[in-house]
Amino acid sequence: MPTRGDRHLRAVQQAKKLTALGARLKTIHLITGIPPRQIQSLFFPDVLSIPRGRAPDSADWYYGANLIMRIDACVIGAKYQQLRDQGLIPGEALILAYRAYQATTLPPFRISLDRAFNLVSYIEGIWLASTSALSILSCQDCACKFIAAVGTVAQRGQPCPFCKLFERFHVDHRIQASYPIRTTLQTTASHLRRLGPSHHPSVESERDIP
Ligand SMILES: [Zn+2]
Repeated sequence: MPTRGDRHLRAVQQAKKLTALGARLKTIHLITGIPPRQIQSLFFPDVLSIPRGRAPDSADWYYGANLIMRIDACVIGAKYQQLRDQGLIPGEALILAYRAYQATTLPPFRISLDRAFNLVSYIEGIWLASTSALSILSCQDCACKFIAAVGTVAQRGQPCPFCKLFERFHVDHRIQASYPIRTTLQTTASHLRRLGPSHHPSVESERDIP
């Protein structure tokens, strides 16, 4: 049974990891329970280093996001769900899912930690969200995991973001230019397909600027 000291130590360690990933004070506070002023005094001795800007407060951005952003979101959401299914607590699952996302792409990262926090909040109905609004589904055509509104049923013939990426790759110069792997279409598409939702190459445009 963890003691109060153990829980506090874990909260501080989480806060440190979240700070390193660029999280806002509010995000760190909601995940760890540490008061924002304490987070600031522990990790932001320079006030100017505190991340600024407004974080998204609903999950609607996902529906309006372009294909590349949605694929990034799916990578994070699917990894988060996998880690939660393995028994990790939400804060740790978010940190590890976000690190896994960073490991598969190159900076600048299009999805910020705060946006990933928003995303998993609405997947699970925690932190920012009182109920679940997004769910992780398995595509019936390509088998990739993708995010859709709660209640959506994956059906054959309804392309997921990964299906659309594979379809558009050969005609969409923006997507082609975005991926560092520049072999033939077939090789690249099959490579992406093999890597699936948890690994996809970097797209350097369209960073999620806080
Ligand atoms: Zn698909």
